[in-house]
Amino acid sequence: MPREIYVIGNWKMYKTGQEATDYINALDVAVKQSKISVYLAVPFTSIHPAAQVSKETHLVIGAQNMNDAREGAFTGEIAGLMLKEAGAKFVLLGHSERRRIFGETDAFIHKKIVRALKDGLRPVVCVGEDAQEREEGLTEEVLKKQITGCLETLDVEGMKQVILAYEPVWAIGTGKSATADLAEEAHAFCRQCIAQLFGEEMAELVPILYGGSVKPDTVAGLLKQTDIDGVLVGGASLDPKMFSEIVLNSESVK
Ligand code: PEP
Repeated sequence: MPREIYVIGNWKMYKTGQEATDYINALDVAVKQSKISVYLAVPFTSIHPAAQVSKETHLVIGAQNMNDAREGAFTGEIAGLMLKEAGAKFVLLGHSERRRIFGETDAFIHKKIVRALKDGLRPVVCVGEDAQEREEGLTEEVLKKQITGCLETLDVEGMKQVILAYEPVWAIGTGKSATADLAEEAHAFCRQCIAQLFGEEMAELVPILYGGSVKPDTVAGLLKQTDIDGVLVGGASLDPKMFSEIVLNSESVK
């Protein structure tokens, strides 16, 4: 059975609640009723307004991070249940900016994934090598370590909820997207890692998205690849016109 296609926008630390509302109102109507899965990972304070204005659409609103505890004395942190109450349906976990700037490890990301699943949020788990690791020929080793460390002990039901995103760090926010062939090679390897951990059947089910400088004119080439089931879009998702184009170009591929 063909896997579903996902286009996920990651707004990072951009857009207030009002700006989120204006953005969603400005999206192409066809995008809001799209047949493919269109997700937006928005800042915490924009989740509620974005979810409210998306009520009559097919858009799915989510968060970009959460804590691994249900609740507790963790000043400045946010819990999955709080995100869910605000209207989030999914959460990005292990984004390279969280790993690099905030020191998140695979073990910590794993705990967050477990908590997200308990709290009813779909985890979108990001993995990817940096430029030096690629140059040194360590890409597969890094991907295997991250995939294993983040996912290894999940049960089958949990794994069925997971979306994996391959995001080479050297391609994020740099304008240097991976070529479709290079991305496909990494995606096929990620799928192989999932097969080793959870079996072939699960590997065929898990959606694997590509992220890293995706633009309207590059998305189709990526989605034509066998193992690329969607895209995670940062910079280009901030403009409703450009994001609409990415969604519409994705719809026409598979
Ligand atoms: C991202 O932040 O996940 C991302 C892919 O960013 P960009 O599209 O800007 O490279």
